[in-house]
Amino acid sequence: CGIVGFVGTLPETSPAPVGGAGTAVVLEGLRRLEYRGYDSAGIAVVTSAGVDVRKRAGKLGNLVAALEADPLPVSSTAIGHTRWATHGGPTDANAHPHTDASGRTAVIHNGIVENFAVLRAELVEAGVPFTSETDTEVVAHLLGAAVTELGDLTEAMRAVCARLEGAFTLLAVHADAPDVIVGARRNSPLVVGLGEGANYLGSDVAAFIAHTREALELGQDQVVTITPDSVVVTGFDGSPVEGRRFHVDWDAAA
Ligand code: GLU
Repeated sequence: CGIVGFVGTLPETSPAPVGGAGTAVVLEGLRRLEYRGYDSAGIAVVTSAGVDVRKRAGKLGNLVAALEADPLPVSSTAIGHTRWATHGGPTDANAHPHTDASGRTAVIHNGIVENFAVLRAELVEAGVPFTSETDTEVVAHLLGAAVTELGDLTEAMRAVCARLEGAFTLLAVHADAPDVIVGARRNSPLVVGLGEGANYLGSDVAAFIAHTREALELGQDQVVTITPDSVVVTGFDGSPVEGRRFHVDWDAAA
């Protein structure tokens, strides 16, 4: 339902009770997306050691309590999700982010992977252990395997998207590239927020409006790779494309 991604450093001192700038920015973005409605929420941060996830059914307060009880490692790369369940009930295990078995890949997803049952059956057949009932979890396992095979998260995302049917906005992180977030979209929105020494991703501009009003909208079937100082957009076929730049001029609530 709601998606936020952050990579970079922030000039201002942000209130970061747990996990550093990444966690603080993503939590704040999730609060601004609450108006869309949701039943669960979660955050992943990435370091070279792996991805770390905290996720809880219910309101953001439950996630904050979990973060306070068991803080995430400090990281400047974080992704966050508020879920509106379509496949699998609103439980902690079904909340996003979802990880692969290696614990080095984490994924969040808005929408529905229509052909998840076929993909899941294939993975189960190959011995991949599933920990949720969501359509989303297949993406985490496929991406982890594709990164191992292709050696690059962006290429892996393109390869996986080529196998997915339905509607999706996806964000993914991988411990092999701890200062990178890769996003992709089909039939579901994704916008990039352009900062200084930091870049953002959101299912809508509310996700990063507190930090930047310079934005870039992704078109259909596009992939974006962000680092603290770069944004690269390509088609699912790898061809370079220009996203549509715009300035957010509406007045956001403080
Ligand atoms: N289909 C996914 C799920 O049920 C994502 C739902 C959403 O868009 O929040 O977990």
